Amino acid sequence: MRIDYNLHLDYSDVLLKPKRSTLNSRRDVEMTRDFTFRNSKKQLSYTPIMASNMDGVGTFSMARVLQDYKMLTVIRKHYSFNDWKATAGTGLKFKYVSACVGTGAIWDEEALDYQTLKQVIAAFPDIPAITIDVANAYHEQFVDFVKRIRSEFPDKIIIAGNVASPEIVEELIINGADVVKVGIGPGSVCTTRTQTGVGVPQFSAIIECADAANGVGGHIIADGGCTQSGDIAKALGAGAHMVMLGGMLAAHDESELELKDGKRVFYGMSSESAFVQHGARKDGYRGTEGKTVLLDNRGPVRDTVEQILGGVRSSCVYVGARRIKDMPKCAHFVRVNNIQNRIFDGK
Ligand code: 5GP
Repeated sequence: MRIDYNLHLDYSDVLLKPKRSTLNSRRDVEMTRDFTFRNSKKQLSYTPIMASNMDGVGTFSMARVLQDYKMLTVIRKHYSFNDWKATAGTGLKFKYVSACVGTGAIWDEEALDYQTLKQVIAAFPDIPAITIDVANAYHEQFVDFVKRIRSEFPDKIIIAGNVASPEIVEELIINGADVVKVGIGPGSVCTTRTQTGVGVPQFSAIIECADAANGVGGHIIADGGCTQSGDIAKALGAGAHMVMLGGMLAAHDESELELKDGKRVFYGMSSESAFVQHGARKDGYRGTEGKTVLLDNRGPVRDTVEQILGGVRSSCVYVGARRIKDMPKCAHFVRVNNIQNRIFDGK
């Protein structure tokens, strides 16, 4: 047994310190970032804030809005090939989407999501990225699967996860991933930490994992736990090359989920609701690590996206980062025990 006594922090434990800067306005901030990815060698210039591959978030409707802001959407893996074909003529720009696949093909070559992935990538060559998504990316078979996907799709950006510690980030990148998703347990509809007792506070996980990825020329995505635009700025300041959002983009008109009495349901992808929707796991394992919430409909996501980008721009101005890329260089965090005045909470 070992205990790491070093304090590990969450977004709510820190604030960015304002600094003197030469930036006069939010308009001066360059929000897109140019990436060259380690293994695929692919180059991409985009705003490094993306939609998660969750039901209600990673939808074609979401992608059609986010593309206007040069933001990527990881398309949920449950769309059929026919659904993909039906997007023809709807204005979807494939350049701003990632396809997504689980690891079912490790056990079953005919796994539907894997078969769909192959068809989709062949039919829409502009798709730059493939996301391999599992709740726990620590097992050896996952690393082998990343290697396999790398050899089958040598020129695609491979995003793989989720993990929360540096050694595995290095291992995944060395074995073919370009980008590793970091986040075990911070998500808005995730119950991993209470169900299993496993997790690493997200802010510290990002610092450690970004450092590991930088060492081997890879990138990381801070996935989960952002509740407001300030958290996204903190993630970028901590060294995340990109940030993935679920809950912040949920319950909008673009969710493609039914609206009932002005409410939208939102659930974790390992929740009971997800199992009911998509079927139980093939390995017979039935533990849920996600929950379901009923949210007020939040209207068009465009307004939320503009709020988010406005907040991040403003953070960049406060810390003197002319480019979003400069956030970690400019970020000076203070450890705090309170980030908000709560006098009017509940009013
Ligand atoms: P959020 O932005 O909502 O805080 O976090 C989104 C992330 O939570 C997703 O991108 C995914 O990594 C994670 N997630 C989604 N569904 C579940 C779930 O059912 N269980 C767990 N443990 N994590 C989930």
